[in-house]
Amino acid sequence: MTLQNKKNSLKLLKLNSIWSLLNKYKQISILTAVFLCSVAVLLSFTSYLEQQTEGWMHELEIKDLSAQADTIAHTLEKLAIKPTPVSVNQFISGIGGNQDFRITVISDAGKVLADSWLGVSEVHTMETHADRPEVLSATLFKAGQSIRHSSTIDKELMYVAKRYEGDNFSGYIRIATPTSIFDKDLAILHDELMRIIFVVFVVFLGVNYYVYQHIKRERQLLGEQQKTLDCLNKQSENSELIQKFSQALTTCESRDELVGIISSMCGHLFGEHTFGALAVSPPSLDTIEVIATWGATWPGDERFQPRDCWGFRRGGVHLSKNHGMEISCNHLDIEDGDAVQCVLLQSQGVSLGALHIGANEETFNSSSFQNKIYTITEQLCLTISNLNLRVKLEQQAIRDPLTTLYNRRYLDDSFSRELTRAERKKSEMAVMMIDIDHFKVFNDTYGHDAGDYVIKKFGHLLASMVRGEDISCRYGGEEFTLVLNEIDQQSAAKRAQVLLEATRDLELQLHSQSLGQITISMGIAMYPQHGKTQSELIKAADEALYIAKEGGRNQFRVAGNQLVQKAKAA
Ligand code: GH3
Ligand code: MG
Ligand code: MG
Repeated sequence: MTLQNKKNSLKLLKLNSIWSLLNKYKQISILTAVFLCSVAVLLSFTSYLEQQTEGWMHELEIKDLSAQADTIAHTLEKLAIKPTPVSVNQFISGIGGNQDFRITVISDAGKVLADSWLGVSEVHTMETHADRPEVLSATLFKAGQSIRHSSTIDKELMYVAKRYEGDNFSGYIRIATPTSIFDKDLAILHDELMRIIFVVFVVFLGVNYYVYQHIKRERQLLGEQQKTLDCLNKQSENSELIQKFSQALTTCESRDELVGIISSMCGHLFGEHTFGALAVSPPSLDTIEVIATWGATWPGDERFQPRDCWGFRRGGVHLSKNHGMEISCNHLDIEDGDAVQCVLLQSQGVSLGALHIGANEETFNSSSFQNKIYTITEQLCLTISNLNLRVKLEQQAIRDPLTTLYNRRYLDDSFSRELTRAERKKSEMAVMMIDIDHFKVFNDTYGHDAGDYVIKKFGHLLASMVRGEDISCRYGGEEFTLVLNEIDQQSAAKRAQVLLEATRDLELQLHSQSLGQITISMGIAMYPQHGKTQSELIKAADEALYIAKEGGRNQFRVAGNQLVQKAKAA
């Protein structure tokens, strides 16, 4: 950077700092400027007024002096006094010349005939006054005036001279008055003017201050009204959103719908700057699972243990921050300045999950924000609890309670759907009927409880060996059905063989007592070769099962197939 550049930057910096200072004290600066301008305007106005007043006073004085001259001339003319020094002097003494007015009578030739401030002898010695400026003007224009210093009486005087040409009196009457009297009047007037101006100025300032305060108050009031209006608008907007959210939750029928509602609505509900997640507790597992998020990337674990969340541990609400005395939940990794509030969702003492709301730390201080969290979590508790109940009822309706496999009702409901799918895809499908061998004997030997245990154990084995898209069902008693999609006969036979072997390998132990081994027999029917309807396929598989039983059990048979596939005990 060159020296010039540095200087320029410094200048700019200075200007900026002055500008920011001015901005900071903007109000005071404006008031001071207004005050100074008012003073300047007032002073100029005062000075103008004084000049004007001085002019008016001059004019008045001249008019007054002129009138006096007229009166004297008129009297002289009327009384027909000979204008000699003696007679005029007597006349002037008679009309009473005083210290304020000097009366001088001057002849046509300019000789002073009488002077109210001088004696006869002094008048006699006075030089001609024809050259005096006021007299010269009066000669030319009948009247004249001047302000000048009088050497005779050593004072500054204002003179007014008038020329008269009457029958008895012809000459000049000159009236003079000391300017000091005039100045004194002017000073009094000036004082009065200043007093009035001061009062006007004070009143002006007072009115200004009142108006300023009034405007300020009005502005404050307007600001407060606007704030209240904004607040009301926001509140009504919020309550509308909460109402929409509640409606959506009320009509929510599945967890997928719940996930959609949380992801799309929570950002609007809590504010665009917030983020968060809904985590639910699966009924049989200890792990809490995050199923829906909103806002920025969720800064927490997707799965966590209840002990990692203080919301769960406290059985209520916990606010996590990553500084200060606050304890932060282990499943969270919060950024500086942010906080996450974990709210446990529970219904009738059963924990359903938690709602985690993340935002700037200050956001959580707002009571309206906390109220919103409370309202939303209350709604969520109700919805999740309803959904859980619905799932439970659905499960109860379609699942066998002992094995948790689907029941026959579910098989009947879904069979036609699987057939339609296979038909549409032009794929093969296998139906397997499975029966535990000599189960009556097993029951008789080990008891009914052991029998139940074996059915349960075999049910779990079956569930673990099928794909998600297959149907595993307890058909009734110790009989089971498998519907395997998109599979050919060869693969189905392989799967049956694996199942036969896995069943034989099942470890059966109840109350520390070994229950030995069990075997199964299986009948397989293929769609579309052995049947195109549910009853045709079940019947064909049943017949194949019968042949397997007849063939000595512990084996599977394929319907309509002469080939006997036998799985020998290992
Ligand atoms: P097979 O090899 O010919 O199938 O002989 P099996 O003894 O298995 O056949 P059977 O039909 O004669 O007997 C079935 C037995 O299964 C009778 C019944 O008491 C028992 N059973 C059916 N359902 C249950 C159940 O839920 N629990 C228990 N413990 N036993 C059951
Ligand atoms: Mg049976
Ligand atoms: Mg049996």
